[in-house]
Amino acid sequence: MQHSPLSQTEARARTGSKPRRMQTPAVPSARIDDGSIPCFRAVIGTAEINAAVAVLRSGWLTTGPKVREFEHKFAEFLGGGVEAVAVSSATAGLHLAAEACGIGPGDEVIVPTLTFTATASVIRYLGAEAVLVDVEEASRGIDLAQAERRLTTKTKAIIPVHFGGYPCDMTRVLAFARRHGLKVIEDAAHALPTRCDGRLIGSWESEACVFSFYATKPITTGEGGMVVTRDHGVAERVRTMRAHGLNRDAFDRFRKVGASWDYDVVAPGYKYNLTDMAAAIGIVQLARVETLQAGRQRAAARYFAQLRGLPLDCPTPAPAGSLHAWHMFPIRIHESARATRDDVIAALKAANIGASVHYRPLHQMSYWKARLPSGPSAFPVADRYFAGAVTIPLFPGMTEAQVDRVADVLRRTLG
Ligand SMILES: *Cc1c(COP(=O)(O)O)cnc(C)c1O
Repeated sequence: MQHSPLSQTEARARTGSKPRRMQTPAVPSARIDDGSIPCFRAVIGTAEINAAVAVLRSGWLTTGPKVREFEHKFAEFLGGGVEAVAVSSATAGLHLAAEACGIGPGDEVIVPTLTFTATASVIRYLGAEAVLVDVEEASRGIDLAQAERRLTTKTKAIIPVHFGGYPCDMTRVLAFARRHGLKVIEDAAHALPTRCDGRLIGSWESEACVFSFYATKPITTGEGGMVVTRDHGVAERVRTMRAHGLNRDAFDRFRKVGASWDYDVVAPGYKYNLTDMAAAIGIVQLARVETLQAGRQRAAARYFAQLRGLPLDCPTPAPAGSLHAWHMFPIRIHESARATRDDVIAALKAANIGASVHYRPLHQMSYWKARLPSGPSAFPVADRYFAGAVTIPLFPGMTEAQVDRVADVLRRTLG
């Protein structure tokens, strides 16, 4: 029987503090049942809808009590000792984190080539250069040996990406950064919850760690992000710069006891705050974060069993003691296979199954390619991965029958 995400979340909503059911239907995407299998599908249920509606009725829509509650709960989830600052996207969060780390014109920041363009774009926003490096074979995370060869006197920071939810080795990353005097900004857009050596990503000693709540990310608020840091100075700067560089936010000015209209402008800040509607959805999603991961992990485990023996690489499971978020399931079709990556995507499409590619490496994109330094720079691991890369469907409510249908198409195409 098909186990729809809606019925799961409704069941959960009924056991929550507010058992009353809304008449509002769930988002249409959660209801589509035409036999197609999307590459990703968010789990949005009655609890999320009720939370957003309650904010709409509350009289306070923008950054306010729900954002504070979401930030507090997010920091608590990571084990405390960190500050969490909610922002409008991970892109905004990476930009603010890099700004708070003092990145500016003339600086260089090391970024893996196998990532979404935002990881590197934010460095250009600040007038600094993103220096692309290759990734490691198993983790598809940044290759520190190549990073070391690309260091110059201008290198100020490194942005490791926890690719697909596989943890970068944070002990090694932090040791590398400390040895070379670099700041560390983690791109944790895929990494919730991810553990490296037992410790949650977001709780390590990097200068900042940035999560995404975009529609397809491990938890979603539609659009949104979170900057997490142990450095109070970074947290304060991010808080100021997310809201026009004002010394107090609107909620402080208008709703707090002893409030007054007055404020000062201390910097030319941005407009990167999160709304209370989004935060209210995020609070519900965060409460489900482990259940959502478990759902993805179950589907991933079935893929491992069903794809065995085919000419493809599955993503590497997390090492013992670590936890993979299983944000996505990017496979690599072998060069020797009788079908190419594009054949596989076409076969999936013909069977009504969504697929994607994460990612065409940045050094193969026009803008970044044009900025590559002259002289040899090679990205053999990312190039080889990309040539065969296909991201096949993986989402929390995915059924065994759906996994098997995807695997059947792969077997027919490649076996
Ligand atoms: C999605 C993503 C981002 C950007 O996240 P937004 O919240 O959409 O701004 C950054 N880095 C990686 C690796 C991503 O996948």
